[in-house]
Amino acid sequence: MNIINFMKIDLHCHTYKTKNRFGSNMTPKNMIKVAKKRNLDGIAITDDDTLEGYFEMKKNLKGDKDFLLIPGFETQGFEIAEILVLGIDYIPKKKNLMDFVDEIRDNNGVCILPHPFTFVPTLRYKKTLKELEIFDGIEVINSFDWGIYTEFAEKVANVFNLGKTSGSDAHSLRNIGLAYTICEDPIKDIKKRRTKVAGIESPWTYKISNLIKFLDNSPV
Ligand SMILES: [Zn+2]
Repeated sequence: MNIINFMKIDLHCHTYKTKNRFGSNMTPKNMIKVAKKRNLDGIAITDDDTLEGYFEMKKNLKGDKDFLLIPGFETQGFEIAEILVLGIDYIPKKKNLMDFVDEIRDNNGVCILPHPFTFVPTLRYKKTLKELEIFDGIEVINSFDWGIYTEFAEKVANVFNLGKTSGSDAHSLRNIGLAYTICEDPIKDIKKRRTKVAGIESPWTYKISNLIKFLDNSPV
């Protein structure tokens, strides 16, 4: 009999090193503690345009074999919406989108379309639709996003044969593990389109407080 060890991994989290306007108040040390308490088997650090938080967490874990740490980052700057990269521990120099994606894949990473329908669903969707083939997966559940789009995102994943991921997009401790991806090996399973997703939306209070933070940090 084969015993399959499915893991629960939150594939989208931000440490205090992240460089986006939402910021984060989470240190890797506290994140590990909370993630374990919430029965996660691992976490992906996906700070915006930096891997400093990932390396700090790696150091904190000291080779802990019971907790899987996935390197990653979130980035924008191409003609499409953001890209969530998982599985590589450096940021390739951006030349053009296809070169960038090729380098990720050549180094065994994957490109995910995160929170695909946030705020302006149709616009965002139209922009990215023609580019969907560059992605290995789509983030079906993002706790920070609006839950009403989850079903639609899952349909898109099925129609375009994309891997499915789920993550909290946590910028503070109470959100870690609200959503997670179920798999045996996240990167391999995304490539093979066999991950499963689970999770819930963040509370409204959290979303509103983050929106205020975002507006506060917007350039005037
Ligand atoms: Zn994010």
